[in-house]
Amino acid sequence: MLEVHKLSVSYGKHTALRDVSLRVDRGEIVVMLGANGAGKSSLLKACAGLVAKHENTAIALSGKDLTDLAAHRIVEAGLALVPEGRGIFGDLTVRENLELGAFAKRARTSEKDNLERVMTLFPKLSERLDQDARTMSGGEQQMVALGRALMSNPDILLLDEPSLGLSPIMTGDLFKALAAIRNTGVGVLLVEQNAHQSLAISDRGYLIENGAITGQDTALALQSDLAVQKAFLGLA
Ligand code: ATP
Repeated sequence: MLEVHKLSVSYGKHTALRDVSLRVDRGEIVVMLGANGAGKSSLLKACAGLVAKHENTAIALSGKDLTDLAAHRIVEAGLALVPEGRGIFGDLTVRENLELGAFAKRARTSEKDNLERVMTLFPKLSERLDQDARTMSGGEQQMVALGRALMSNPDILLLDEPSLGLSPIMTGDLFKALAAIRNTGVGVLLVEQNAHQSLAISDRGYLIENGAITGQDTALALQSDLAVQKAFLGLA
């Protein structure tokens, strides 16, 4: 289980996150809904060890303290980030991109099994393993990015706006894959602006505004919450 306790992040004088606390269990999808600039990317980057945190912050994964670990040690502990914009290497093949995800010690012995698992989730990738990643469509590139994170055999996946730039159909396919990943026992923290489709596959959700958590509930309750409908669902 991922536990984030009083996470604060500042860039110079600007405080991007203030005392953010949350929990993600294995086998659940938790969505973080917030407008542009609310602090969603900073939250994921801080969990992944990519931005500095204030001193009173504590982050733990299944009881192991991650707060001050370097980014590669956090991957080793079982937390993997798929960054906004995917971060895949266009000049490398799909297979090479996936192999890059398996550098963690925890993943090396199970690399073959993990690759098979990724191929089962994304059959389209299995036909394209030797193709340069840049020649893939946006949706397929997002599959490569997700597949690469899965190659590190994570307990918890952090996803930064995976639906950005994808059509509703491609987003639907991607989110179906997320549900399948959740059903294998992996926990997913999903940062999204696409509230319609993300709430439909999520178990729980948090609302973030100006760097602070302003609400949390089951996904079902959030779907019928009037304030959520107004802010994120284009209703009410
Ligand atoms: P978006 O959906 O637009 O990416 P977000 O919710 O992910 O937004 P963040 O990217 O975490 O939000 O940004 C939160 C705040 O911190 C914003 O005001 C942003 O301008 C600021 N910020 C983010 N990164 C930096 C940085 N490296 N230096 C200075 N300010 C930053």
